[in-house]
Amino acid sequence: MIDNIIKIWNDALYYLSSKVSSVSYDVWLKSLEPVSMVDNKLILLSSSVSIKNTVTKNYSEIIIEALKNVSDFISGFDIITKNEKPQFIKDDIEIEEILSYNFDNKFTFDSFVVGGSNQIAYAAAKSVAENPGVQHNPLFIYGGVGLGKTHIIHAIGNHILSNNKKTKILYVTTEQFINEFIDSIRNSKDNELNKKFREKYRNVDVLMLDDIQFLAGKTSTQEALFHTFNDLYQNKKQIIITSDKHPKELTFLEERLQSRFQCGLTVDISAPDIETRIAILQKKAYEKKVIISYDVINFIAEKFENNIRQLEGALSKVLFYFNLLNLPCNDITLVKEALKDDIDTTQAHILTIDSIVNSVCSYYGISKDDIVGKKKTKQIVEPRQIAMYLISDMLSMPLVNIGDYFGGRDHTTIIHARDKVSNNLKTDLKLYRDIQNIKDMIDKK
Ligand code: ADP
Ligand code: MG
Repeated sequence: MIDNIIKIWNDALYYLSSKVSSVSYDVWLKSLEPVSMVDNKLILLSSSVSIKNTVTKNYSEIIIEALKNVSDFISGFDIITKNEKPQFIKDDIEIEEILSYNFDNKFTFDSFVVGGSNQIAYAAAKSVAENPGVQHNPLFIYGGVGLGKTHIIHAIGNHILSNNKKTKILYVTTEQFINEFIDSIRNSKDNELNKKFREKYRNVDVLMLDDIQFLAGKTSTQEALFHTFNDLYQNKKQIIITSDKHPKELTFLEERLQSRFQCGLTVDISAPDIETRIAILQKKAYEKKVIISYDVINFIAEKFENNIRQLEGALSKVLFYFNLLNLPCNDITLVKEALKDDIDTTQAHILTIDSIVNSVCSYYGISKDDIVGKKKTKQIVEPRQIAMYLISDMLSMPLVNIGDYFGGRDHTTIIHARDKVSNNLKTDLKLYRDIQNIKDMIDKK
């Protein structure tokens, strides 16, 4: 919403600039700042009561004309000053709060799946959300693209606000921070340099800066951040930063910033393991209220290892396909078709134990639980032994680990399966063909 009203007010200012003298424009109108909209009225913030009074007295009509000209739904405006408690804003909300970021309510701790790859970051985030500014300051979260950094800091924001609606939290992307800093230099005159910028960033209880890696090459913004940081830090205000790398690796940063970033708690989020990926997909499917077979979930989870955003994207695409064809979500061939472009470009041909086992499972139409489980029926035992054979043949993996994978079986079981299949292969043509087909499937994945 803020973006929107800023645009409307900028357009209105442009209109006004041609209707009033340039002195009036500069002195009275230009300094007003759009902060909110209430009942179709634009709320403008003024730095002084005298500006407010003069504008209301002399320029109301022309401002309304300008607003109507640039927007269909704005019917008027009100000016407030910083110290005034606006009557039209309910619940005693303060002006700063209007400026604070609205966190995406999808991104909560509840919707965040916790696994080995993110549990430390999760615990740290929870603790900061419970007691901002107390224990871990700054909190520095780093990790690759699409692994949940933004999600987790929105979750912190949502949590803090649910405990105390009045906490002033400012969430900004580093790009926004840089742009606002540049604007503040461009628009400020003489001693006013950076004042507004400084006030905005130092007048918060919690500052969240997302994707700090974009500060590369921005020396003066780094300087501004350094001062902001010190000020907040000394006043025990919580600072939360995310980045794609550990602070030590952010070599483009001034050293003093690098070391400031490390004086609190630094935690990482790494790529999720297969169980976490499956749990995430299951949760997302549940949120979308769709029923989707375990095989399909497992297949997608296998293919997208390093980026949860891509994992989610793949799920959406698959659901879209099934929905379009009006089919239940259980056909792996169709899933492959839906995802063929994505899979080829992400991680084709990384041979893993899972990829081999999955191929065997889908070739014989059995589930992964069965193949690693205890069942002794012929229908399961043969594929199981073939999988063991293929894994020991295709991967240089210790037999003990293969045994572990198959529900903690002894390595002698693996040796037995391997020898049995390779012996049979010498005489059993059908088995030979089956194995060729499975290998083909593995290659094509
Ligand atoms: P980043 O900021 O690290 O690039 P995001 O926070 O934007 O990543 O996460 C990308 C997507 O993945 C989001 O839709 C987010 O909800 C989802 N996501 C990431 N981690 C998890 C998780 N642990 N549980 C559930 N969803 C997650
Ligand atoms: Mg992000």
